[in-house]
Amino acid sequence: MKFNTKAIHGGQKYEETTGAVMTPVFQTSTYAQSSPGVNKGYVYSRAANPTRTALENAFASIENGTRGFAFSSGLSAIDCVLRLLKPGDEVIAGNDLYGGTYRMFTRLFHKYGLNFKFVDLGEISNVTNAVSDSTKLIWIETPTNPLMKIVDILGVTNAIKNKDTTILIAVDNTFATPYLQRPLDLGVDIVMHSATKYLGGHSDLVMGALMVKDEELAEELHFIQFAAGAIASPMDSFLALRGIKTLHLRMQRHCENGLAIANFLKEHKQVSDVYYPGLESHPNHEIAKKQMDDYGGMVSFRLKDESKKATFKFLESTKLFTLAESLGGVESLVNHPSTMTHASIPEEERVKIGITDSLVRLSVGVEDIDDLLDDLAQALER
Ligand SMILES: *Cc1c(COP(=O)(O)O)cnc(C)c1O
Repeated sequence: MKFNTKAIHGGQKYEETTGAVMTPVFQTSTYAQSSPGVNKGYVYSRAANPTRTALENAFASIENGTRGFAFSSGLSAIDCVLRLLKPGDEVIAGNDLYGGTYRMFTRLFHKYGLNFKFVDLGEISNVTNAVSDSTKLIWIETPTNPLMKIVDILGVTNAIKNKDTTILIAVDNTFATPYLQRPLDLGVDIVMHSATKYLGGHSDLVMGALMVKDEELAEELHFIQFAAGAIASPMDSFLALRGIKTLHLRMQRHCENGLAIANFLKEHKQVSDVYYPGLESHPNHEIAKKQMDDYGGMVSFRLKDESKKATFKFLESTKLFTLAESLGGVESLVNHPSTMTHASIPEEERVKIGITDSLVRLSVGVEDIDDLLDDLAQALER
């Protein structure tokens, strides 16, 4: 199946007892047994629930994996991956990470004896130089949040797997989605999503996803999901499954609108830098072109007037772009990383990687592009 078909049919079949085309919300915690231990494949909903199974099969299908897992949040999906490790193990991660991931690594798992090295993954040699005997996991985000840097996934997997095949490589594919890039096909072991964002797509749930190809790894992750218990609920699973069925349609429009807005901002006299991997001026454009099928709906930029006052005036002046955290929904959002999504990163670190007060991040929705451009134009004129 091609991607657009998988988004709708991947891993799905109609419900057996009624023929319902859409898997219903199986809002149940437990399942009748005809004799102790004799059941219809479901025992208790922390272990498995039919609505969640349908979603997890869709997750596996769209990322070209064999198994998928649905969690109560993106962070609980990451938490599940880190629980594969043990004290003394080391993780190498990018230095331009989602704020909550950085917070979990440095303030939670660091306490339990895991060590973290943050490097600029833009240079493959930074990764290979950082690898030690204790390295067990490489954590990649691409495009990065909020600076839209691109990591060469195949470059990293080739360099690492040639050296040591026991090191796991994980990609947070939240920004790109499998519509744009499929890391499992590039030799990555685990794909993670905040399904809160594009997979759900309607800003109406919080959810995480993991997808893998390897059966043994799948069993380990399933054990942790079951034993730690951070599962997605039946209702949220239903909503996410419904969201995935239009992922390809939404992403196509997100990409069209994202590029149009990046081009508009690039030419605007009040704007200095624009961060969008689809622009030829983007420093990683060539890798993006090779690795991604299109460039997505996330655009960051800086105003020429770098004062906090000017930036706040813009953020308070948009009408269609709602000032809010999160991203990936049908509606357009605007965000101020340094005070909102990335406030948990210490100021010194933030400034070092370029997340200053003048930086603005847009999640470009699927509205009419003329209305979105008008809104940005009026807010920039104020
Ligand atoms: C939102 C986000 C997360 C965290 O996911 P939650 O669903 O909020 O727990 C992780 N990574 C990225 C890139 C995100 O945007």
